[in-house]
Amino acid sequence: MADCLFCRIVRREIPAQIVHEDEQALVFKDISPQAPTHLLIVPKKHLGSLLDASDDDRALLGHLQRVACLLAGAGRMSSFRLVTNNGKGAGQSVDHLHYHLLAGRPMQWPPG
Ligand code: AMP
Ligand code: ZN
Repeated sequence: MADCLFCRIVRREIPAQIVHEDEQALVFKDISPQAPTHLLIVPKKHLGSLLDASDDDRALLGHLQRVACLLAGAGRMSSFRLVTNNGKGAGQSVDHLHYHLLAGRPMQWPPG
């Protein structure tokens, strides 16, 4: 999508601190980290949010979780939080599906 921030990062039109890339996913550091480790796991395919995924995207959604596990393992994260904000009311500010991978500090529940 032409003017989507995360599509532009995927196309390298905007710089980011990329930590992982494969055929389907890009992972980069959040520009405003909320924990010592705060990564964004993004499908290269533009999906506005989780609600925009269809049955055809099942493998992609599974892949994104596998990428999270691989990064958690590589970073020796014994505890982490994997979260997606769906919709403005849940705090979504970028309309391209992404999972936050947060680690390195105690996490509160429920989240704010
Ligand atoms: P959300 O609010 O759940 O949609 O998450 C969007 C995240 O993208 C926020 O945590 C922002 O800090 C992060 N963000 C926004 N712009 C950039 C950028 N240019 N590079 C990296 N992360 C960004
Ligand atoms: Zn996009």
